[in-house]
Amino acid sequence: MPKKDQSSFPTTLSCEEARKSLLEQTAEVIGYENLNIRSSLHRILDEDLLCPVNVPLHTNSAMDGYAVKHADLSIQEDSRLKLVGTAYAGKPYKKTVENQSAVNIMTGAAMPKGTDSVIILENVERKGSEIIVKPGHKKGQNVRYAGEDLKMGAKCLRAGRKLTASDIGLVASLGITELRVRRRIKVAFFSTGDELKSLGETLDLGEIYDSNRYTLYGLLHDFGADLIDMGVVKDDPGLLEAALKTASETADAIITSGGVSVGEADHIKSVLQSIGAIKFWKIMMKPGRPLAFGKIGSADFFGLPGNPVSVMITFMQFVLPALSKMAGRTGTQPLEITAKTTKAIRKSEGRTEFQRGILSFDDKGNGLVTPLGAQGSGILSSMTEANCLIHLTKDSGKLQAGDTVKIQPFELRLANA
Ligand code: AMP
Ligand code: MG
Repeated sequence: MPKKDQSSFPTTLSCEEARKSLLEQTAEVIGYENLNIRSSLHRILDEDLLCPVNVPLHTNSAMDGYAVKHADLSIQEDSRLKLVGTAYAGKPYKKTVENQSAVNIMTGAAMPKGTDSVIILENVERKGSEIIVKPGHKKGQNVRYAGEDLKMGAKCLRAGRKLTASDIGLVASLGITELRVRRRIKVAFFSTGDELKSLGETLDLGEIYDSNRYTLYGLLHDFGADLIDMGVVKDDPGLLEAALKTASETADAIITSGGVSVGEADHIKSVLQSIGAIKFWKIMMKPGRPLAFGKIGSADFFGLPGNPVSVMITFMQFVLPALSKMAGRTGTQPLEITAKTTKAIRKSEGRTEFQRGILSFDDKGNGLVTPLGAQGSGILSSMTEANCLIHLTKDSGKLQAGDTVKIQPFELRLANA
C-alpha cells in the first residue's frame, strides 16, 4: 500500500513546544538607530548602558532640617549648636562647618563639608542663632550618598530592555540625551476569506466585516512594529501568492488570519508550501488549534486561525514572543501570576486552554478570577469584557471553585471600570 504523504498532515504540538519551536526558528532582526531619549520610549535598547557618573552626583540631604556633625551631639543631654548658614538645593553652603555648628539645609542640597547627618526640622528647637537638638540621632541619618542610586561604571540598563518611563528618566538623570535602540521590525498583515468585507462595504448574506485586521493592528501597534496593512485577500491562489510575495519583499514578518484550518480549501496550503517553507501545526490548545509557521523569502510567516478570539490568543502566546525576539527584546515569555477561581471550570485533560476571565482582589489582596460564561472562539466581546486570560495547563482536569489557576493579565495598571 502506498504511504500517505505525511507533509500534508499538520504536526501536533503542545502549546509549550510550539512557543519553544517558534523562538528557536526566529532570528533577531539586525539594525539600530540613535534616538533622543523621548523618542526611545518603548523602544528596545540596543546596547548595555554604563553609568557615566555617580547618581546622585553629590552626597545630599534627604530632608529639610539641619546638617550637623554627629560627633558633636551628646548621647544623654540636649546639644546646643551654632547656626552658621543655609544650604539650598543647587546653592550649596561652601565653607567647612566648624565643630559645634549646624547648617540649615533643604532637601536635595549638597551636604556641607564637616557635616554627616541631618536632623529634621520637627526635631529641633530653634533659639535665635542656636539650635537645640535632643539626644538619640543616628550618624548618617537623612543623608543620600553619592552613587547610592547608581554607581559610576555600573551597568544601569541592559541591552534588550523595552524602555520605560522610569528608564528614560534615569537616562536623563545621567545627563545622556540619546540612546541606541533597535530598529522597529516591519510587519505586513492581511486577512483571508471570501466572506470578508472591509468597513464601508455592504454585507450580503453570509458576509462579515473583517475585524481581525483591526485587532491585529491594535496588537501590533501596542507591540511597537512598523505596520504594513495589506487589507483583505480572497481565498484565491493567485491573489494569495501575489500578496505573500509582495509582503515578503519588504516585511520582516508576515501575519495572516484565516485559511489554516484542516478542511480549508487546499490551495491555500499549496500556495504557502510552493512559495516558502511552511509547516502546519495542530496545537493542543483551545482556542486556536491550527497555526502555520515558516519562511517566505527572508520573512517569517505566521498564519493564524480565522476566529477572532483565536487570533488574539495565538498572537499573545506565540507571535508576540517570536516578534519580541526578532525585535531584540530579551523578555519573551508571557507574564503569569496566580489566582483562585471563583467558579468550577470544565476542562479536558491533554490540552491547554485559555479562558477569558475577570481578575479581582479580595480585601486581603489575594487574586480571584471569575471565568466568563461565553468562551466560544468567535465571541470577541469576551476579550473586551475580560481583563485576563486564565491559563489552564495541559495536564489539569476540571477545577473546583477555590482552586489556584495561572493568569495572564492584560493590563497591570488601572483597571477598566
Ligand atoms: P477560517 O480559519 O478561515 O476557517 O475562519 C474561521 C472563522 O473565523 C470563520 O467563521 C470566519 O468567518 C471567521 N473569520 C475569518 N477571518 C476573519 C476576519 N478577518 N474577521 C472576522 N472573522 C473572521
Ligand atoms: Mg477562511
